[in-house]
Amino acid sequence: MQEHFRDRLRDISIGANASIRDVMEAIDRGGLGLAILIDHKSGLFHGLVTDGDVRRAILRGAPLESPAKLIPRPPARSARQDTPPAELIPLFSEKVRALPILDAKGRVCDLAVLDKRTRLPVSEPSLGMRELELLTDCVLSGWISSAGKYVDRFEKMFADFCGARFAVSTSNGTTALHLALLAAGVGAGDEVIVPSLTFIATANAVTYTGARPIFVDVDPRTWNIDPNLAEAAVTPRTKAIIPVHLYGQPADMDPINELGRRRNLTVIEDAAEAHGAEYHGRRVGSLGDIGVFSFYGNKIITTGEGGMVVTDREDIASKARALRDHGMDPNRRYWHTLLGFNYRMTNLQAAVGVAQMERINEIIAHKLDMASAYRRLLSGALGVTLPAEVEGLRNVYWLFTLLLCPTVFGNRDSIVFRLNPKGIETRPVFPPVHTQPIYSTGQHLPVAESISRTGISLPSSVGITGDDVSLICSSLLELARQAA
Ligand SMILES: *Cc1c(COP(=O)(O)O)cnc(C)c1O
Repeated sequence: MQEHFRDRLRDISIGANASIRDVMEAIDRGGLGLAILIDHKSGLFHGLVTDGDVRRAILRGAPLESPAKLIPRPPARSARQDTPPAELIPLFSEKVRALPILDAKGRVCDLAVLDKRTRLPVSEPSLGMRELELLTDCVLSGWISSAGKYVDRFEKMFADFCGARFAVSTSNGTTALHLALLAAGVGAGDEVIVPSLTFIATANAVTYTGARPIFVDVDPRTWNIDPNLAEAAVTPRTKAIIPVHLYGQPADMDPINELGRRRNLTVIEDAAEAHGAEYHGRRVGSLGDIGVFSFYGNKIITTGEGGMVVTDREDIASKARALRDHGMDPNRRYWHTLLGFNYRMTNLQAAVGVAQMERINEIIAHKLDMASAYRRLLSGALGVTLPAEVEGLRNVYWLFTLLLCPTVFGNRDSIVFRLNPKGIETRPVFPPVHTQPIYSTGQHLPVAESISRTGISLPSSVGITGDDVSLICSSLLELARQAA
């Protein structure tokens, strides 16, 4: 987030009586776009001049030989040497990108510069040379469409990873959900139970089949579908239930599977945000009848766009495979026995997927480290509710998401807004689906509504460092102090 340039102080420091021309030379030498003016008598910090300040002064007619201290500029800011790095962050702003650090006597001893390149996004993909290598292989071999060795290899690796017999790759997570529902025989007139607190795709896939999504509230601890409320929502028309493992936290699958068996419902896990999460030692996606994953650019692993249907049931896998490819008879080309789709994944996507699978365990380990760093710095903070650590569940923290009490922090959206100029990108929790304009059922689902109002996801990319996490936490807690 901030870089230090102690070693360049000599280049960019110049007496306040020097000419504008000398200042321009100093700015040029340092390569940081600024110079530091030093009081020529006392040797103490006098001010900071940026190349923009110089440009404006010259355009207004200031002679190059006039003294630099006359260059109009905003009042100087500086920080004391004993300021902890995390407390420097609130001193930066859109205008103040560089901060001279002064020793006890007032002499400049360091320069902290806000690094514009290291904005902290909520979730950015982690891609490397291996992805490039396998993509290059596709291009050089000409196998760029949906036939090619990487599709099979990716499916095999992913099935093994989930501990499932079959994996069917698709063009994205939404098409994977659609195929899973169709393969389960869901169609017009049916009902499918979904949690209201999810990304819209979970409900939309149900609607595409002609069935109706039935929204239920979530458990206040895990933020995932409440099995008792799900049971209460079952009617004779209910055909399936879609638990979502939100933000990487596994849903309570035992009671859901038991409900599925008792009422003859297909259980489809929406694991789009939870690759590698575990429920009592078993990986999500292999717990229900069908599991669905997304490989969108911001998910735990990515193929750009992409999805996967995972199952132990051969009938489901072969139906999903056929529907993915225009319902073509596997034994007779161009012979169509079902109304299908083109939902295929390309070899290019799968090549990236293979490279990502080679280090998925590393990626997940990094997520767990990130989560413990956040926990260490935020546990016990007034007004902060951390994601629950539940016995038997392994959350993989797709996004580290917490609840902020409005009486301590003020309005959540204003927190998102105020962290943004500091380079910290955050994201509000999804609005519950039952309140979305395309569904608005008029229901009141208090838990989903409350989590959605106060929940915020913090930067959770794989590249995030311990220092980044400290800066994020101190900026967040600083907002609580300001609100108090
Ligand atoms: C991302 C996501 C999807 C959809 O995946 P896409 O690949 O974007 O189509 C579905 N459900 C949930 C919970 C998601 O987060």
